[in-house]
Amino acid sequence: MGYFTYLIGAGIVFVWSMIVQANLKYKMKEGAGMRAGSGKTANEVVEEMLRAHEVYGITIEHKPGELTDCYSPKEGKIYLSDTTYGRDSVTAIAVAAHEAGHAVQDHENMLLYEIRQLLAPVAGISSRLGPYIVIAGVLVSSIAESSNDLGYMIGTLGIVVYFVAFLFYLFMLPVERNASNRAFKDMKEYGWVSNDQLSFARSALRAAGDTYAVALASSALTLLRLLAIRGSRGSRRR
Ligand SMILES: [Zn+2]
Repeated sequence: MGYFTYLIGAGIVFVWSMIVQANLKYKMKEGAGMRAGSGKTANEVVEEMLRAHEVYGITIEHKPGELTDCYSPKEGKIYLSDTTYGRDSVTAIAVAAHEAGHAVQDHENMLLYEIRQLLAPVAGISSRLGPYIVIAGVLVSSIAESSNDLGYMIGTLGIVVYFVAFLFYLFMLPVERNASNRAFKDMKEYGWVSNDQLSFARSALRAAGDTYAVALASSALTLLRLLAIRGSRGSRRR
């Protein structure tokens, strides 16, 4: 992938991410003012969902901030943000059910979830380190003709390191979709939101899920660019 193609791709991903962020913000704002038909709070929904799937020993805690909702398998806790914790809005319930969905995935030892969990601790480091290793490979190659092979090997190592981060985003997408599907199914089955609120709840969950699609596209683009920077074996020989 040439630099120009990369720039076009990066531009598209950037605009796309702006649209996705704006849509998510809009959905969260709109849904926050919509009181769920059941009158239940996000905390009650988490408890009900966990009980329905026989998941025990998970505690709910407030994590101050926006969009800070997450499930921590290590701590056995579901953290809910300012707009979710104790709230009875449609988005609060949808987000809470989504996080409970992750706890159910974990409880059921869902393979994709387990793989994502394995990759999670190293993904951050790999995504930051990989590009530097590839650039180091290019520098080594440029020293002398005899260092070409070594440079190529270092470049390949950098790509392998970055690939771990790419895999993380790749596995994250279906795991997130699945958690949202579980949330939607239970919201419908247990009537946590009224029937006319269901489609909005689903669109809010989709809006949140789109951010992971953007992350995957961005990671794929970086991977392609790194492959181009490393070049092919001996390509820099004159
Ligand atoms: Zn999630």
